[in-house]
Amino acid sequence: MVKQWVYFFGEGNTKDKNLLGGKGANLGEMTKIGLPVPEGFTITTEACNTFYDLGKKYPEGMQDQVQKNLERLERVTGRKLGDPNAPLLVSVRSGAPVSMPGMMDTVLNLGLNDDTIEGIIKETQNERFAWDSYRRFIQMFGDVVMGVKHEKFENILDAKKKTSGAKFDTDLTAENLKSLISEYKQMIKKETGKNFPEKPENQLRMSVDAVFDSWNNDRAISYRRINDIPGSFGTAVNIQRMVFGNMGDDSGTGVGFTRNPANGNKEHYGEYLVNAQGEDVVAGIRTPKQIDEMSKDLPGAYTELLKVYGILEKHYKDMQDFEFTVEKGRLYMLQTRTGKRTAMAAVKIAVDMEKEGFINKEQAILRLDPNQIDQLLHKMIDPKAKEKVTRIAKGLPASPGAAVGTVVFTAEKAVELAKKGPVVLVRTETSPEDIEGMNIAQGILTARGGMTSHAAVVARGMGKCCVAGSNDIFVDEKAKVLEASGKKYREGDWLTLDGSVGEVFEGQLSLINPEVSGDFAILMKWADSERKLGVWTNADTPKDAKLAREFGAEGIGLCRTEHMFFDKNRIKTMREMILAEDEQGRRKALAKLLPYQRADFEGIFEAMEGLPVTIRLLDPPLHEFLPKGKKEIEEIARDTGVSVTDIENKIESLDEINPMLGFRGCRLGLVFPEISEMQVQAIFEAACKLKKAGKGVKPEVMIPVLGHVNEMKVMRELVDRVAKETMEKTGVKVNYHVGVMIELPRAALTADKIAEYSDFFSFGTNDLTQTTFGYSRDDAGTFIPKYVEMGVLEKDPFQVLDRDGVGQLVRMGVERGRKTKPGLKIGICGEHGGEPSSVEFCHKIGLTYVSCSPYRIPIARLAAAQAVLKEKKG
Ligand code: PEP
Ligand code: MG
Repeated sequence: MVKQWVYFFGEGNTKDKNLLGGKGANLGEMTKIGLPVPEGFTITTEACNTFYDLGKKYPEGMQDQVQKNLERLERVTGRKLGDPNAPLLVSVRSGAPVSMPGMMDTVLNLGLNDDTIEGIIKETQNERFAWDSYRRFIQMFGDVVMGVKHEKFENILDAKKKTSGAKFDTDLTAENLKSLISEYKQMIKKETGKNFPEKPENQLRMSVDAVFDSWNNDRAISYRRINDIPGSFGTAVNIQRMVFGNMGDDSGTGVGFTRNPANGNKEHYGEYLVNAQGEDVVAGIRTPKQIDEMSKDLPGAYTELLKVYGILEKHYKDMQDFEFTVEKGRLYMLQTRTGKRTAMAAVKIAVDMEKEGFINKEQAILRLDPNQIDQLLHKMIDPKAKEKVTRIAKGLPASPGAAVGTVVFTAEKAVELAKKGPVVLVRTETSPEDIEGMNIAQGILTARGGMTSHAAVVARGMGKCCVAGSNDIFVDEKAKVLEASGKKYREGDWLTLDGSVGEVFEGQLSLINPEVSGDFAILMKWADSERKLGVWTNADTPKDAKLAREFGAEGIGLCRTEHMFFDKNRIKTMREMILAEDEQGRRKALAKLLPYQRADFEGIFEAMEGLPVTIRLLDPPLHEFLPKGKKEIEEIARDTGVSVTDIENKIESLDEINPMLGFRGCRLGLVFPEISEMQVQAIFEAACKLKKAGKGVKPEVMIPVLGHVNEMKVMRELVDRVAKETMEKTGVKVNYHVGVMIELPRAALTADKIAEYSDFFSFGTNDLTQTTFGYSRDDAGTFIPKYVEMGVLEKDPFQVLDRDGVGQLVRMGVERGRKTKPGLKIGICGEHGGEPSSVEFCHKIGLTYVSCSPYRIPIARLAAAQAVLKEKKG
């Protein structure tokens, strides 16, 4: 039996987005629930994939099914494709399983030719409208299907406007348009060597091919890569009766959101244009009106539309983004989909919809994308900095957050200059070709377009600050000049954008940290009540520790002590220690460092108020602390009295071919125990002092880069000995733990033995990834992006934990460690601890906690809760 490749709207399982594409499924679903949808049918994504499998040939039976559905469409509409008396005009649109706004192709007004135009003129009694529709069709078809550059049409159009004295497109008469059409056709013939196809069935076939082909155009491929959409999805093709928003002042077209996609407020949100067609609103060429003004312009349709807002939300139980057209006063729904929203809106909508009874708390938690939460944690412009400056322009607050960067005028330049520093992409309007530039820029500023313009929609999806449609600026893209407030800004000039209110400032304004409050705090609380994993932080200073606690950190999982020695005052003493001739010399320098270390730890213990603080003993190779240039070496020689030559010799002796696999981690403490002794003494002096003052302290001493149980035996003995001595000296007893970082495959493999001497494990998956793959983490940037592009690696393993390889070692380490010590406390403190999919893995294998940078804590809290809920759902 031949497969069903084509479905009439409302037929089959209209919820099946994978098969029908998002658009097709929703058009079918809206038809089913009785909303006014122009009739049509969908060619499935499966047909698209088979088309590619067969080397760009239609699957068996597809053409027949298209024909049958077309006949059905002709029956229900009472029109016929190519019939001059009652011509059927259709749109042909792409529709992937997930929305890819503007990335693929669309053809409107298909079915027009030199015969059918007469029928349209007769029927509408509007010659201008008919010719304009024809003109638009040829332009779109020529561009999308026949590959003629858009600007070729624009040039002819501009010339026509000039010769006929028309200011706007709408000033062109029917006669003007008619001659324009023949010029278009001649140009197409010249450019492609082919005639514009007059036969509607050919137009249709060519358009379906073009939509299938557009699945693999460059911008669609880029968009998929950036948004993690698999190429195997394919696109559906929707063929639908045209309705016209450009039939006069009783017609129009618009887009709406059932709630405000920028802030989540429950309001009638949307924009429309009277007497306009299809893409005019999203293209951002005319600035549209706010939806509520429709009550005056198109009152009947407005009343209908208000009902639609309610029906859509009740049915889909989520915020919808829809498109509509009003043809001669009648409302038609052309599309609906789950609306893209800012993180701020996502949180508010999830919490509000729970209150309104649409969804429960679990659904609210699952509805958020943990990666998107990142947006809420973006910095804002410091209000104090704002007070001191006047803005140079105002625009629409298209996507919140703040951006500081230098001006660039093209996407290519953005990609190029972003390597040197942050950039802000400034365009008259953006188009899908700009996707790479938008992705890399800190923020986007456009002169034209509304809240639903391409720039606004894409920026929101990316969580990127965007100020759109600023009438205060003029962008000369050719001359690369931005004019605002009477001043000119060129490439390299600094701008600051505030996408939350739509403001533009000159220069680099300072930004401040966000906080977890309001609906966000409510949601985080719901997440906390679900999650099993603890969420700790990586923090090296009291400031970071406090920030992390504001974000909900329940402990410090990694305090990297080496950062403490780079301070201006300490680095000298550190160098003195490294350059010392013997142990005695080292101890002398270490004694000077001790008070600094003690103060560091006091500050951190204090900030954490009795929560666990995991302090890692010195980890990096010592030469990292040594001077690099001649000038610095001379300075040290002066300070220490050691000769320049001796210093140079020492530096040379510490130089390593492969320092990351060299004299670092616990090896330092084993060879120079006095370094670890000083650190442990500082930890316990600080802890005892606070404890004496009645404050809570929970020190956890962590040994880095360990591969053999014998290393642990020595280090454990050292820590216990110095801790005991210090406690005896101060007369205070503090409970503490000593644990190990599992960063080497051998440590994971022998975790059962190491566990005998450990109170906890913490997986250092940065180094574990490095040592498992054998990829230098500092040099991997040279080939990993290429690997990901080629599909050799699905993801960068330094960002997303490689479950199959590194993950297997982690799992083994957990099992073996707990075989020796059931219930052993185990965490992770590599960068993966704040990455949602890795957090999910950590939950699955039963870790006790994840530890991540302060800004990623809310993400980890949410991801940990989602891991539980996903597990529950099976
Ligand atoms: C790790 O290796 O995962 C880790 C946290 O340590 P660092 O990044 O400091 O090497
Ligand atoms: Mg490490």
